[in-house]
Amino acid sequence: MTSASWEQFAGNLAFVTLAVAMWAHISIWYQKSLIGLERPTWGVIAGITSIGSMMLAIQFASGIFIDLRFAPLALAGLFGGVIAAAVAAVPAIVFRSFAGGAGAFDGVVAILFVTAIGVVVHILYRRGRADIYKLAAVTILLGFGLSIILVTLPSLTQSGAAAAFGVPLVLMNCVATIICGLIMLKTARLKLERRVLETAFSQSPDYLYVKDRESRFIAVNNNMARLFHFSSPAEMFGLSDFSLRTAPDAEELYHREQEIIRTGEPLVDSLERMGERHLLASKVPLLDSEGQIIGLAGVTRDVTESIELERELRQKRNLLTLAMNGMSEGFAMFDKKGVLVFCNEQYRNAFPLSRDVRVVGAHITKILQRVIETGERIGLPQETPEKWVEAAAAALHVNKDEEIQLRNGEWRALKTRLAHDGSAMVVVSDITVTKEAEAALQLSAQQLRSLADTDGLTSLANRRAFDAAFVREFETCRETNIPLSVLMIDVDRFKLYNDTYGHLAGDECLRAVGECLEKSVKRSGDVVARYGGEEFVVLLPNTDETGAMIVAEEFKRLLSREDLPHTSSEFGRVTASIGISSTGGKVFSDTQKLLAAADAAMYEAKEQGRNQIRVQGPARRVSAARAGS
Ligand code: GH3
Ligand code: MG
Ligand code: MG
Repeated sequence: MTSASWEQFAGNLAFVTLAVAMWAHISIWYQKSLIGLERPTWGVIAGITSIGSMMLAIQFASGIFIDLRFAPLALAGLFGGVIAAAVAAVPAIVFRSFAGGAGAFDGVVAILFVTAIGVVVHILYRRGRADIYKLAAVTILLGFGLSIILVTLPSLTQSGAAAAFGVPLVLMNCVATIICGLIMLKTARLKLERRVLETAFSQSPDYLYVKDRESRFIAVNNNMARLFHFSSPAEMFGLSDFSLRTAPDAEELYHREQEIIRTGEPLVDSLERMGERHLLASKVPLLDSEGQIIGLAGVTRDVTESIELERELRQKRNLLTLAMNGMSEGFAMFDKKGVLVFCNEQYRNAFPLSRDVRVVGAHITKILQRVIETGERIGLPQETPEKWVEAAAAALHVNKDEEIQLRNGEWRALKTRLAHDGSAMVVVSDITVTKEAEAALQLSAQQLRSLADTDGLTSLANRRAFDAAFVREFETCRETNIPLSVLMIDVDRFKLYNDTYGHLAGDECLRAVGECLEKSVKRSGDVVARYGGEEFVVLLPNTDETGAMIVAEEFKRLLSREDLPHTSSEFGRVTASIGISSTGGKVFSDTQKLLAAADAAMYEAKEQGRNQIRVQGPARRVSAARAGS
């Protein structure tokens, strides 16, 4: 091969690479307008390049052309798939056919074969874009393919072209494929990067823009164009704030931006207003490779919603605080972990001794420990206070109502309620007054009860209390079959006593008789009552007739020992007649019958001469002999 042939090859290589490089540039420049057409257009370019290469071919023999047509055809399929390959191959085939000559048919066969290599690699590695490995695969297959063509196609073998130009033909086509393939790969990467950046810029949710040194827009994103009611970002290029905003606003912005351009100091998060909207703007100076400021880039975020929300939140918080401070109850809120997150002054004041630790941020255990230290509450355990703190802290997150008393005597009601998020709300109210009133009420109720059961004159049980006790004891004794006895006592000649000494002395006498009766009973279950007027009754549970007789005798003895003078009585002193009835061995259907029996016995005693004891049933004069003692 002559050096002239090499030069021709070099020229051909230059043309092919130039054509592909030009396509690479064009496809970057017109990336947007080529959307959807890129593959067929690449096919056209590859086809034209292939034809161009054929036009610059070395004519080895009549109708035998040696050129680099195969490189663009193989790359057409690799970078553009079946469509691009078809679009490239058809004009190349047509051209080769028109060029005619001895190798025309073989030339067309070679074109088809090589084009198929690119398509096959493209299809085999369907997933993903063309990369360096696929390019290597195409180059190797092309080398092999062309070698086979050179030794098999008759026109080439016969003309001797295979021997003369075989190696450079294969070599140069492979070199052209590699160079053009690398250009295409690099272009694809650049386009991808650019697309990613452009998309990120144009579709950013913020307002992005770039301005030149004179504060004119040289790039804006979609949001920015929408903000100023432009249909596309391009319409804003070259405009400045003077044509977009009011003169004073634009003036201010311009001066601020010129300051940034002059000093190189960025502006970070400055609040701007645009009509009703609040914007947060940041602007940084843009430097070229030599460090010269060539403009500025800005990011503006619309913070109207968050500012509005913040304002609303602040307002609500103020309202809440106002309400909490205005209420009479103490209010506190503890989070899920037991940390005090909110409380009003009333809550703190409700616990004077642990007030200092009841502050936002304090944990419930710390507060309870202070309660223990100061002994603020009544009823705290003396031993194992840690256990109490632990249990009380755990009980914070349980719905409950409690009433506690402080050491200073005051009372607090604590209402604990759980919220959905697990936090506990505590409402504290001062119930001291209520508690005191309750206690006073309880006391007076008790007093009233005892008043209702007590005889005013003698302070003994009254008839009402006696009746109740009688029914109760009667039932018990009947069920258990143990004896029950009743004493009925009537002061003798008492009308005369009153007549002689006056009513007040009479009352005094009744009191003395009552005291004697009280002294004569020993058991706690015994009931001494004033039955009415100068009549008394004594109820003796678990006591038989003999026992009752002993009590009656004892009374009689005590009364005689009192020796209360009664000049109008035949005995010269105050005496009484006593009737006894007892259930021992007898059946009484109800209390009235038992009482009537005692009454009858008492009247019998009267009839028999007074100042004596009678037992119910057959008249028995008891201690008549001692009547005068
Ligand atoms: P006897 O020996 O038959 O029981 O004669 P007596 O006078 O005691 O009987 P009577 O039942 O007729 O009189 C009871 C009197 O007791 C009538 C009333 O003047 C007097 N009396 C009743 N209750 C009281 C009282 O609370 N105080 C005083 N001072 N006298 C009373
Ligand atoms: Mg009487
Ligand atoms: Mg009497």
